[in-house]
Amino acid sequence: MSLMKPDMKMDESFYKIEEIRHLTGETFSLKLPKARFAFQAGQHISLGIVGGNQSREYSIYSGVNDDHLEVLIKEVEQGYFTPRLRKLRPGNMVEVHGPFGKFGMEPEHAATGKFVFIASGTGIAPFRSIVHTFPEIDYQLIHGVRYSKEAYDRNEYASDRYTLCTSRDKNGDYHGRLTGYLKSCNFAPDTQFDLCGNSEMIFDALEILKRKGFDRDQIHCEVYF
Ligand SMILES: Cc1cc2nc3c(=O)[nH]c(=O)nc-3n(C[C@H](O)[C@H](O)[C@H](O)COP(=O)(O)OP(=O)(O)OC[C@H]3O[C@@H](n4cnc5c(N)ncnc54)[C@H](O)[C@@H]3O)c2cc1C
Repeated sequence: MSLMKPDMKMDESFYKIEEIRHLTGETFSLKLPKARFAFQAGQHISLGIVGGNQSREYSIYSGVNDDHLEVLIKEVEQGYFTPRLRKLRPGNMVEVHGPFGKFGMEPEHAATGKFVFIASGTGIAPFRSIVHTFPEIDYQLIHGVRYSKEAYDRNEYASDRYTLCTSRDKNGDYHGRLTGYLKSCNFAPDTQFDLCGNSEMIFDALEILKRKGFDRDQIHCEVYF
């Protein structure tokens, strides 16, 4: 006997988990069926567990035209939601609402701009969506993590466009925090900056870019926590 109400199966916001990719011991992606809504690369969804009573926001990790809707999730020790998400298996149902947010890349913008994407940890998610959606986009991606194993899906980015900054091991392209690397970089005056991740990184990176002379309207931010 099913515990689901008869109309629940038809709910447009319910998605069955098709695949779980384990990227590190703590970080995994959930692959769901293709999105049933239109979204812009860079936007996020609200994700819940069917039958649960909480939801959290997750950037969409897949491209607009990809076959699956995918999200990248790091389990937070002592967190409420992510340890529960981690227990899910293919076949389990999740509830998806969205898309939400203004951190989205317009096609005209992608075609003409020169971008620097700055991400800490899973903050790389919206940039992977953007790169999948606009493979021709002119970008540099600076990714800050603690250990090089957290270079999620690194092989999908051209090696001359992706710089890994590792603070706790020396196996990245730069040993130290991404803000240390950022200080040493020179960027063209018309560069657009997109920042995503934890608030401390974003606050520090904003200061560095301001000191380099960039206007606030060249910089767009998505804060995770
Ligand atoms: C717009 C938006 C998009 C987001 N996209 C993603 C995403 O793509 N992938 C992703 O993993 N998370 C993302 N997050 C964070 C996510 O919504 C949750 O906050 C996170 O999964 C923790 O949920 P939790 O219930 O396990 O922890 P909670 O019980 O809600 O929080 C526990 C503590 O952990 C802190 N925390 C939250 N996230 C992290 C983290 N990644 N690392 C360390 N500490 C953290 C919180 O500040 C809090 O102090 C996004 C947040 C926002 C606002």
